[in-house]
Amino acid sequence: MKFDILTLFPAMFEGPLTESIIRRATDKGLLDIRLHQLRDYATDRHKVVDDAPYGGGDGMVMKVEPLAACIEAVKADRPKARIILTTPRGRLFDDAAARELAGEEELVIICGRYEGVDERVRELFVDDEFSIGDVVLTGGELAAMMMVDAIARFIPGVLGSPGSAETDSFGNGLLEYPHYTRPAEFRGLAVPGVLLSGNHAEVARWRRRKAIEKTLQVRPDLLRQADLTDEERRWLAEFEACSR
Ligand code: SAM
Repeated sequence: MKFDILTLFPAMFEGPLTESIIRRATDKGLLDIRLHQLRDYATDRHKVVDDAPYGGGDGMVMKVEPLAACIEAVKADRPKARIILTTPRGRLFDDAAARELAGEEELVIICGRYEGVDERVRELFVDDEFSIGDVVLTGGELAAMMMVDAIARFIPGVLGSPGSAETDSFGNGLLEYPHYTRPAEFRGLAVPGVLLSGNHAEVARWRRRKAIEKTLQVRPDLLRQADLTDEERRWLAEFEACSR
């Protein structure tokens, strides 16, 4: 999958996109991530990319011309690209969005700075606006890194254990169950006996129960969509009764 990231700070991507799983996926040719310095597309002597907002007010706005020139240059090479703007005003970037975007061949991600980008960028070029949550970041770079990382997990071959994207939190509409590894006891805390039992059916049942309990505790909104069996609905009712 091809990513083109438009940014004023390409050096920020060193590390998150050049280490570990993303690095290996790039080495295997599963990901092709290109960074574009927006300042290179400013045509004036001082390479200015921002200006004061019409109507007054605080902060600066990213100018339309350098963005338009950069997007058009990238699109010449990426005719199928879906163009995404990072912005707190966008649709929430969640597990469903990551899965959906993983189906694309080419994605362009625009990283805003200052008060954001001139609205005409959105009107002329942007297919989707995405927000990583109800917070305001200083720039779109961290949002873009997060999006690339989350999307990459759904590209076949990127994860060492292909099933983990499905059993991880949100994969089945629930938060994930808790994990343990050796030692079996640490500072008086023992690993739940069922996980040492070797009984795979009981382990799966325990994990499902724990996933439902955790989801009820911190993200009860997810349970509205979760696909639960009759037995699981009874567990949920028990947990709800205990939490009242
Ligand atoms: N004035 C904007 C507002 O209130 O909606 C915030 C601008 S923010 C300081 C600068 C840039 O950071 C944005 O243009 C966007 O690219 C990025 N950004 C900030 N918060 C974000 C979020 N929650 N999701 C995605 N991108 C975000």
